[in-house]
Amino acid sequence: MAVVNRLLKPRVPTFYSLAGTLRILSSSSSSSSLNSGIDIRPQSSINRKPLGLDPQGRSVQWVFLGCPGVGKGTYASRFSKLLGVPHISTGDLVREEISSHGPLASQLADIVNQGKLVSDEIIINLLSKRLEAGEAKGESGFILDGFPRTIRQAEILDGVTDIDLVINLKLREEALLAKCLGRRICSECGGNYNVACIDIKSEDGSPVMYMAPLLPPPHCASKLITRSDDTEEVVKERLRVYNEMTQPVEEFYRSRRKLLEFDLPGGIPESWPKLLQSLNLDTHEDTKSAAA
Ligand code: AMP
Repeated sequence: MAVVNRLLKPRVPTFYSLAGTLRILSSSSSSSSLNSGIDIRPQSSINRKPLGLDPQGRSVQWVFLGCPGVGKGTYASRFSKLLGVPHISTGDLVREEISSHGPLASQLADIVNQGKLVSDEIIINLLSKRLEAGEAKGESGFILDGFPRTIRQAEILDGVTDIDLVINLKLREEALLAKCLGRRICSECGGNYNVACIDIKSEDGSPVMYMAPLLPPPHCASKLITRSDDTEEVVKERLRVYNEMTQPVEEFYRSRRKLLEFDLPGGIPESWPKLLQSLNLDTHEDTKSAAA
């Protein structure tokens, strides 16, 4: 605990030292004492120029929360391009570890294919390695997708750096399962597509929500694969695990006034401009090219 307290004073101010500190904290902490001196930055601070830097000139540090299938990866990747900070998906890190056939691979594959969460220690270790590799390349800032997923992960992250903003994406429950089952990935370029056509109507038949499929370009069409955990049984378990383990993380950030709740009104064409608008980013020049 002494190590934790020493590390937290002063709170780690830069991205540079985040990876190493994350690793130390995860191996030496119990969860409850990490939340001293929280910096509650008003959400209006995101309306700044240039994009990608906070008012102190530090690259932004954002988190995307939301149920499986909501589209965290899609929006995180768009903001990553727009803001010029890396998009770091812990799900991708886990899948890379599995395909590396390293010592953890089969254990991780079992956990993922059951729809359960990987242990906090393993996930923080993978994230620390990714951050270290990024630091070595001169990266700064990040958009985290799929992390934190437990209160302990949120507390550890909070202990090492100040997150600027947490975007909580929400979608009608009946669309989530269909979107997971419709997800397709190009095995060559990694492009994400979705063959599901979501067309929700009310009892009287009037349209409630429509999301067109996101079909692959011809050169990806013959190389599409599905994720092994995108089966109906596993997706239902992932949704249950989200409600049990990750929903409390929403409250964690809500109480720190960092949470932006965003109800997706439909597919990308309707949702992206509204999301930019809710962040006061819609008038910025750079958003026009990002929307293209
Ligand atoms: P995702 O691509 O975000 O749906 O993640 C795929 C799987 O990786 C999850 O179902 C978990 O098994 C694992 N995973 C990803 N991120 C985390 C995390 N932060 N904590 C624990 N397990 C995770």
